Amino acid sequence: MSMNIQLPAPVTWQEASSETRAKLLSRPVQAVSAALREQVAAIIDKVASEGDAALLELTARFDGVRLQSPELSMDKVAEIAEQAPARVKAAIDQAYNNIRAFHLAQKPSDVALETMPGVYCEQKFAALARVGLYIPGGSASLPSTVLMLGVPAQIAECSERVLISPPNPQGELTPAICYAAIKCGVTGVYLGGGAQAVAALALGTESIPAVDKIFGPGNSYVTEAKQQVSQRAGGPAIDLPAGPSELLVIADDSAEPAFVAADLLSQAEHGPDSQVILLSPSAAMIAAVREALAKQLATLPRAEITNQALASSSLILTQDLAEAVAISETYAPEHLSLQLDDCEPWLPKLTRAGSIFVGHYTPESGGDYATGTNHVLPTYGFARNYSSLGLLDFYRRYTVQTVSPEGLADLGNTIVDLAAEEALDAHLRAVSLRLESTRFQRDTQ
Ligand code: NAD
Repeated sequence: MSMNIQLPAPVTWQEASSETRAKLLSRPVQAVSAALREQVAAIIDKVASEGDAALLELTARFDGVRLQSPELSMDKVAEIAEQAPARVKAAIDQAYNNIRAFHLAQKPSDVALETMPGVYCEQKFAALARVGLYIPGGSASLPSTVLMLGVPAQIAECSERVLISPPNPQGELTPAICYAAIKCGVTGVYLGGGAQAVAALALGTESIPAVDKIFGPGNSYVTEAKQQVSQRAGGPAIDLPAGPSELLVIADDSAEPAFVAADLLSQAEHGPDSQVILLSPSAAMIAAVREALAKQLATLPRAEITNQALASSSLILTQDLAEAVAISETYAPEHLSLQLDDCEPWLPKLTRAGSIFVGHYTPESGGDYATGTNHVLPTYGFARNYSSLGLLDFYRRYTVQTVSPEGLADLGNTIVDLAAEEALDAHLRAVSLRLESTRFQRDTQ
């Protein structure tokens, strides 16, 4: 193979300048240029004014497929699903069962509380009515993402669950995607990708219903379009910033270098803008992983992409595990893998990660597909302040309160005093009128 392998040189954290440290942990720049912003805005405007015709024209332009309609009928979806090989169906069935079990256990419970006598407060959950599930399809077909979005939408019983994904050259979706869509009881399937697909979900077209919330990862067109449509008046909500993949591994001498290297490569192969980091207090382990990386990389079909991702990745020698844990908390990785002799003592200190993989036998790809956890996770350091996708994201939370006459008798003056402090007289009057009414006198006797 003529490829020039670009493995990062190991760096000792204690010897690195603050500038070098910042560089080691900086993500590959996600260029949201003014040009991209304008291009996406123009696509959204086109879909807004021309509907299906715009979607079909842009699908021909960007995906190279001429379609009669963006809709793939559910009959056709079921027919294509049947073509999935038995092994693929069985694997999707098993993954579906685990994802369903784990998400079913996340069902939220309403809260009902009497905060003081006669004052009742409730917190309730209502499933979102219409959800749009974007399944990326540019460089890889991802039936696993159908399960990650479709299963929680099914459990929440969102009444409309529509899926959209770029068409393959035959103007269809793959049997595996169709099989997963049928399992999740998706209610509509549409063909389209990029900003135009997001715009169609947000605004609706003749054939695609507008939705209340858009879910799903995607490339920079998809991500920028989600941001823009969510800022429109009456626009849909969006899930979370899920961009290029990341993995941070903390390994000690007990780790198996080949396992660590395989995990690092599994995330690097997602795309050239993926990033992987190894932290270890053992120089021997870092050297062994580096060797294993070179060996395994050469045999990967996606070696070119993986090699590019490795160029912006780091191998860092730390003083001890405590320093590795502190670096991980600063970086806030999407995926965090602990390949240590004893992981338990470190887990309480590690909360800034989208998903954590514990021990030598928990490959990161387990969570990508089938352990049961969700693979839609915050990237780019957003694990610091955003949550991983879960069942709750398919609900709205709202509150209800009921105050009895006795409750108002006790609480009324508090409300009056706070309204007076804020000089909001109508607020104040809404209480004082009630307290002074003859009806109130009668009802509290
Ligand atoms: P995609 O479906 O996101 O994008 C493909 C679409 O982009 C095409 O259909 C086309 O309409 C549009 N497009 C392409 N070139 C364009 C151009 N020049 N102008 C306008 N539109 C254009 O698929 P992808 O490109 O393979 O990207 C998938 C992304 O999702 C990757 O970055 C991957 O890492 C990420 N991903 C993230 C997660 C996560 O959970 N964080 C999971 C899966 C995938």
